[in-house]
Amino acid sequence: KPMEGRITDIGPHKYDDYFPPVIKNNFGKWLYHEILEPGVLLHVAEGGAKCYTVRVGGTRTMSITHIRELCDIADKYCGGYLRWTTRNNIEFMVEDEAAMKALRDDLNSRKFDGGSFKFPVGGTGAGISNMVHTQGWVHCHTPATDASGPVKAVMDTVFEDFKSMRLPAPVRIALACCINMCGAVHCSDIGLVGIHRKPPMVDHEWADQLCEIPLAVAACPTAAVRPTKVEHDGKKVNSIAIKEDRCMYCGNCYTMCPALPISDGEGDGIAIMVGGKVSNRITMPKFSKVVVGYIPNEPPRWPTLTKTVKHIVEVYAANANKYERLGSWAERIGWETFFKLTGLEFTHHLIDDFRDPAYYTWRQSTQFKF
Ligand code: SF4
Ligand code: SF4
Repeated sequence: KPMEGRITDIGPHKYDDYFPPVIKNNFGKWLYHEILEPGVLLHVAEGGAKCYTVRVGGTRTMSITHIRELCDIADKYCGGYLRWTTRNNIEFMVEDEAAMKALRDDLNSRKFDGGSFKFPVGGTGAGISNMVHTQGWVHCHTPATDASGPVKAVMDTVFEDFKSMRLPAPVRIALACCINMCGAVHCSDIGLVGIHRKPPMVDHEWADQLCEIPLAVAACPTAAVRPTKVEHDGKKVNSIAIKEDRCMYCGNCYTMCPALPISDGEGDGIAIMVGGKVSNRITMPKFSKVVVGYIPNEPPRWPTLTKTVKHIVEVYAANANKYERLGSWAERIGWETFFKLTGLEFTHHLIDDFRDPAYYTWRQSTQFKF
């Protein structure tokens, strides 16, 4: 439909075009919400209007038939409205309790052929919601790990906590497949981040033909890339040299120059960070801190990674106070005790580089009291 003040139809429509009537009619007037059970919230507005939201976990990649089924459910119960959340969940909205119960039971009853939930209801409150994640091996150029595989394997391992709220507080997990971190790893309770551990290789044959060499030089945050001339195929060619002891394996130069591939089967893997969160009414935001420096890529089920994440969750569940987020718990007991309780190995790799303000996230000191 024509939009006021718009001269083309390019770009997204105004967001409130897609609000269900109850949301539109009570915009800015919502008083409070409560979690009735895992996956089900009740929102109450001034004047008493109610909206129940039922949240289900989404899949990493969705087939057209899966999306059609979601839309059919929205048509049947919600007047055709549904929403995707930033954590890849899908939320259905209804206005009365009987409809909410019918919708919830219908969603829980739909199963894949193997018997697993197609639309598991959950992901709210003091449990584990779906993971924010990045793209992985197939879709991006600098990943050090996959997204689809480890995300699926981790969520399968903690699935019971998606459907329940037994933890002291919410645990939000995120995965970014390289340290560019387009995946909110820094502000999640548990962050899984793909890391390279070797500098890029230089393809002298193509460097000058595929790349703007000054651009590759400028892309490096540590000034490890410089232009050079090398002997190739009997002639001198313009190319690139990497000062390896300056390289922090970020992959930025490869983003600019495809003749500097950085992926490596042995060098690549995953680091685990914990303790990040966004701000809430009680505490400031916190950045996460590295607690496991390296776990190898182990497709298809990433056993070491999933075991370690599950272990951290269990130790936190057994020791933290109610309402205490993972990072607040670690800070209260002290990081030394965190490592003692979890049994994770503390190494010098876990101390942040004090030279780089971007990493002022934990101690700038070696004075740990072990
Ligand atoms: Fe690409 Fe890195 Fe983002 Fe993964 S985290 S999608 S590799 S930029
Ligand atoms: Fe520089 Fe990063 Fe490339 Fe290493 S990987 S040379 S630090 S841009």
